[in-house]
Amino acid sequence: MTTQHSHLKQPAYPKKHLIAASGVAAFISLILVVYPSKEVEAKKAVLELPASTHTTPRTTAIMPVSHPGKNLASKPSPDVPPAVNTAPTPSSRQSKPEQAPETPDLSRSVSVVVENGSSLSGIFEQLELGHSLLMNILSQDKKSHRFTQLKVGQELVFTFDQSGDLASVSSQISPLESIEIVRTPESGRYKFAQHVQETTITEATASGVIESSLLAATKAAGMPYKLALDMANVFAYDIDFARDVRTGDSFEVVYEKKMLDGQEVGTGNILAARYTNKGKTLTAVRYTDKKGQTSYYNSDGTSSRRAFIRTPVDFSRISSKYNPGRKHPILNRIRAHKGVDYAAPTGTPIKATGNGKVSFVGNKSGYGKTIIIQHGGKYRTLYAHMNGYAKGIKNGTNVTQGQIIGYVGMTGLATGPHLHYEFHVNGSHVDPLSHKLPTADPIPKAEMAQFKQATQPYLALLEKKSATQLAKADTDTN
Ligand SMILES: [Zn+2]
Repeated sequence: MTTQHSHLKQPAYPKKHLIAASGVAAFISLILVVYPSKEVEAKKAVLELPASTHTTPRTTAIMPVSHPGKNLASKPSPDVPPAVNTAPTPSSRQSKPEQAPETPDLSRSVSVVVENGSSLSGIFEQLELGHSLLMNILSQDKKSHRFTQLKVGQELVFTFDQSGDLASVSSQISPLESIEIVRTPESGRYKFAQHVQETTITEATASGVIESSLLAATKAAGMPYKLALDMANVFAYDIDFARDVRTGDSFEVVYEKKMLDGQEVGTGNILAARYTNKGKTLTAVRYTDKKGQTSYYNSDGTSSRRAFIRTPVDFSRISSKYNPGRKHPILNRIRAHKGVDYAAPTGTPIKATGNGKVSFVGNKSGYGKTIIIQHGGKYRTLYAHMNGYAKGIKNGTNVTQGQIIGYVGMTGLATGPHLHYEFHVNGSHVDPLSHKLPTADPIPKAEMAQFKQATQPYLALLEKKSATQLAKADTDTN
C-alpha cells in the first residue's frame, strides 16, 4: 500500500479528544522520532504522548477559566439554576439587574490541573476552601469520593456563586464521561452527579504498512493514537517496538469503534490484530474465558501474554545494551553494563514489566532513585535513575504488569534522562532483550470449542482486511 503522509504533523485526533487530553493547561507534545531501518539494528517509532500520560512538573497549575462557555461547569444540571455557574462576565451581571451595586459579585470559575502528587485536600487548601468543607462534601454524598481518585493532567473546574461560596466542582474524566459535585441551592448540600454519553459500538478494521514509522503508518490507516498504543500493547510480549519495527512491516486490526450521533468518538477494545514483523506474522485475538478473565491469545489458543512485557517504557529508544565489558561513560573505566538503557524524556512513565511485589524503593548510590520488584521466587526486575515514583508505590506494594511505577529521570550516575532496566533470574543478571520470557496459560482443552467459536468471526475479518490490503498493494504497484 502506498500512503502519502508527513509524519511530523499534529495527529488528526478528534477535537473533543484533544480538548479532554489537554484541558486548559499546556498540551505537552513529546515527539520521539525514530525511524526503522533495514541494516542498522536501530530502534524506531514515533509517537506523541498526550499530557495526561506525563508528569513533567508544571509550575502553574491554577488558572482562571478564560472560556467558561467551553467548560462542563457552565452547562447547568437540571436541578441547579443557571445563575449558580456563571463566571464573572458582563452578561452575567446584566442578567441580575436587581443586584445592589455595592454588593460585589464574587462568582467565578477556577480551573486546576492535577499534578504529580496532587491530592483533593491539597487542592482545596490551595484554593483556601478549608478542610471542613471538603469533609462535608465527602460525607454528604459518598459517591463524591470519586473526586479523590485524581489523575495527573486531569482538570477540575471549581465554580463559585455571587457570595463566593463553592457552587460546583466538575471534571471531564474522558471524552464521554464527566463527573461533578453540585450544591443544591435550597438545602445547601452537595450532591454527586455523573454524566455518561451513550455510545453505540460497531466493529471496524484498519490496516497499514510501515514506511517511515509505526505512528505514521497507524495515522495513515486512520487509527487514533490510543488505538495505535493498544495495538503495540497487544504485541508487547513479542515485539520490542523500541527496536524491532522495520520498513515493510504490516498490520491489520479489528477493533470496537464508539459512535455517538453518527460520529466516531473513540475506540474500545482491540478484538483481533495481526502484525507482520520482519516477515514473521503474529496474530492475537481477544477472548474472555469461562472464569471471566479477558486476555489475548494466539489463534491456536496459546496465550500471547507473557509473565513479562519486553519494554518498560513505551516508544523509547535503547541507548545502551546489556554489555559485560562496557566502558562506563561517567566513571570512564570498564564496568559491566548489566542492564538495558531506554532513553526517553524526563517524566515518561515507567511500567512494571510483570506482576509482583515491590521489594525496594529508594536511593541506591549510582542507580539514583530505584525500584526493585520481586516476581514470585525466581524473577526480579530493577528500574533505576528515576525522576520520581508513582503515587502509592512503596515497599511491599503489589503491582500488576503494565502498571506505572515511576517516571524517567537521571538521578544517580546518568548523563541524560533514561531508564536503566535490569532483569534477574535466580539472583543473576540476564540480558532482558535476549532472555526467553515465560508465557501465561493456554486455553484449556475443554474450552477450546467455545474459544474457536467466539474468535473465528474476528479472525475472518482480519483475513478479509489482509486480502483487501494485498489487492490494494497490487493496484498501487501496477
Ligand atoms: Zn544502564
